[in-house]
Amino acid sequence: MVYDILRKYGIRGGYHDQHFLIDKRILDKIVEAADIKPDEIILEIGAGIGNLTERLMDKAAHVIAIERDPELVDVLKDRFGDSDKLTIIHGDVLEVDFPPFDKVVSNLPYSISSEITFKLFRYNFKLGILMYQYEFAQRLVAHANSKDYSRLSVNAHYFADTSMIMKIPKGAFSPPPEVLSAVVEIIPRPADFEVLDEKYFLDFVTAVFGQRRKKMRNSILRNKQLLGIEDMNEFINELPEELLNLRPENLEPEQFAQLANTMFRHKQK
Ligand code: SAM
Repeated sequence: MVYDILRKYGIRGGYHDQHFLIDKRILDKIVEAADIKPDEIILEIGAGIGNLTERLMDKAAHVIAIERDPELVDVLKDRFGDSDKLTIIHGDVLEVDFPPFDKVVSNLPYSISSEITFKLFRYNFKLGILMYQYEFAQRLVAHANSKDYSRLSVNAHYFADTSMIMKIPKGAFSPPPEVLSAVVEIIPRPADFEVLDEKYFLDFVTAVFGQRRKKMRNSILRNKQLLGIEDMNEFINELPEELLNLRPENLEPEQFAQLANTMFRHKQK
């Protein structure tokens, strides 16, 4: 059926991140994971030819589908245009404002995974079931002391609980991509640690992961200008010695917050 739709509309994909999910079993499992209630509004980013859209519309009160490619928007309109359960937004996901939604379920354009994920964290929603490139998904869900733990992991843990729920083979798509994929469950929640200034915290995490093999002490000294602390050479001795001797990959998110908060307070003096 999914192949029929590609053929009917003469869509080939393979460029602009266009790899259409054609494995019905996986499409069903994604929708199942979203546990959609009949009163919920679902956001879908990069709806493509609508194979996931169709299944989301079956379960939800309403689906908001964002798609940038005009040819695919025409396919979506042709398939579902007369349904009052669907709003199609023709535009770039990074430029449009999202209307209120309960859950986001999408097979994302992989080249802008990070930008989309952090844009989503600015909105209020209950659950995300999102397909990413496998390596990106690994970094998104990684915990401290693992090789995939990165700036992305710390940022994600600040905003949400994340877990990988499915690994997807290349053959599940048409055309098959060159990379493996994975579905991640994202449950947004307030962090269980305090962050005095969100931008300062996130910039600090980015700066120290820029030198992930260096101990925190060296990274902090190297970034004293970016951190806005002129007297860092002296002030650094007020930061906990045991954290300064670790590498970024060994710090828990709350330990980054502890350091960022202390430096931020000092900077404000
Ligand atoms: N949801 C479909 C599926 O599962 O078969 C298509 C997924 S495909 C990986 C990603 C989709 O995102 C494509 O339809 C592509 O045109 C669309 N897309 C790429 N960049 C986009 C952007 N910046 N804004 C909105 N849609 C975009």
